Amino acid sequence: MTNCSNFPKYRSNGISMKFGDHNYSWCENNPSQRKYLLESNYCDEAIEIYVWENDRTYTSVEDFKNYLRNKHDEGTCPLCGKPLMIKRNHADNSNVFLGCSGWPDCKFTKKA
Ligand SMILES: [Zn+2]
Repeated sequence: MTNCSNFPKYRSNGISMKFGDHNYSWCENNPSQRKYLLESNYCDEAIEIYVWENDRTYTSVEDFKNYLRNKHDEGTCPLCGKPLMIKRNHADNSNVFLGCSGWPDCKFTKKA
């Protein structure tokens, strides 16, 4: 049985990948990173992929890539022009909102 207790789910707002050699990787869940993950072989060897945004753990790379393909961009911040990203309230995981990726410099949020 695999011990996943070290799986870095605490890295907020991103995508955590676990590889069979017990290495971990993390990247931001932004349009350019998603494009890279889709078009490269980078995540093909991952055995577990955790997406913070929807709190899902993918054990199939194909399922994960379908998530990437179906994901639409959240747009840009009207205050500073940086990409918006889906965030979840840490105290209440059901509370989802859009926030600026420039946080904490930019505090823009809106309802998702
Ligand atoms: Zn902003």
